[in-house]
Amino acid sequence: MNRHIDLEERFCARNYHPLPVVLTRGEGVHVWDDADKKYLDMMSAYSAVSHGHAHPRLVRVVQEQVAQLTIVSRAYHTDKLGPFLQRICDLTGQDMALPMNTGAEAVETALKAARKWAYTIKGVARDKAEIITCAGNFHGRTIAIVAMSDEPQFQSGFGPFPPGFRVVEYGNIAALEDAINENTAAFLVEPIQGEGGIVVPPAGYLKAAEQLCHKHNVLLIADEVQTGLGRTGKFLACEHEDVHPDGLILGKALGGGILPVSMFLARLEVMNVFTPGDHGSTFGGNPLAAAVGLEALNILIDEDLPGRSARLGTYLLSCLGDIDSPLIKDVRGRGLFIGIELDPSLGSARTFCEALMTRGLLSKETHETVVRLAPPLVISDTEIDWAVRQIRDVVGDMDRMPLAS
Ligand SMILES: *Cc1c(COP(=O)(O)O)cnc(C)c1O
Repeated sequence: MNRHIDLEERFCARNYHPLPVVLTRGEGVHVWDDADKKYLDMMSAYSAVSHGHAHPRLVRVVQEQVAQLTIVSRAYHTDKLGPFLQRICDLTGQDMALPMNTGAEAVETALKAARKWAYTIKGVARDKAEIITCAGNFHGRTIAIVAMSDEPQFQSGFGPFPPGFRVVEYGNIAALEDAINENTAAFLVEPIQGEGGIVVPPAGYLKAAEQLCHKHNVLLIADEVQTGLGRTGKFLACEHEDVHPDGLILGKALGGGILPVSMFLARLEVMNVFTPGDHGSTFGGNPLAAAVGLEALNILIDEDLPGRSARLGTYLLSCLGDIDSPLIKDVRGRGLFIGIELDPSLGSARTFCEALMTRGLLSKETHETVVRLAPPLVISDTEIDWAVRQIRDVVGDMDRMPLAS
């Protein structure tokens, strides 16, 4: 056994089931383990590492800002927060932003904004506000957020949960319409469900949801923590259907793979519900996070990472689609956000990921049957070709030895 794995097993809570590899170093699309074996990172920390590991421009900004000023809390202004929020508002077409750290915190912020908007602007009766979410959603792990989930494991043992949430079928616009009533504050949706298994809704779904929300005075809030910032081949996944949400949640890649940086963005009418003391975070919007976040955005634009994701994602999807095997039930996704769904009677996604790991390719299963491929967006054509060869070989091995590992 490996000493580092032993230590984690002994001292770290068992809330994850990591692949048996100990990583010690990262650069670009690659990471190295404690025996100096090199891996292609096709998971990139659930899309948080879209810029690749240790992007030189980000490393430089971190080093400069760490020496300059790191944390002062929002009790004071800084020279870094304004420019960062101005840039993200320009890029997303939103009016204002509320900076937080993790995705879950930004989702909580969105829920609070939606509820207070419902009471103060829409006129919903006190404590009656409802927020509609989708079956198969993933928005984080706080008590309120798991209250919105329909995944039994996320809730089991953690009740009681706050009320005011309704779950409708993802991709079903009639179900959404049925669930809307005079108390509905918001519809919270992932443009593509990530943790749910890279689920792409039917074309036109988001646009129809936007129209429905407008018609009924319901906020459309897009959780783009994972799909945003170029992951699906556009700056925001909502842009695929020319949808402009009333509220937008960003995280993961916003921190350039270096720090947790998240935010809730919205139009004025929504964000203005917050007054001093309503909500906050000690670390949210700190100058180090703001400096890194701004550089992360600048890199996304300068290197056209959304365009790269679109081009290479289309290419990767077609290469994977060409693999002919009964093991593969479906290959789907958009941009460099791709899921390979396996036939569980022929092989498990975990076994598949372990076999890829042995060949130097890191991925991770989601929902037992889906292998997720979401490499850093800075990946090259050659690296994608190499990855496709490894995947094809693993499929071949598993076809010959079904269910063996
Ligand atoms: C990862 C994720 C979150 C939660 O982000 P954390 O930083 O882990 O709290 C929320 N929404 C979506 C869509 C995510 O993929």
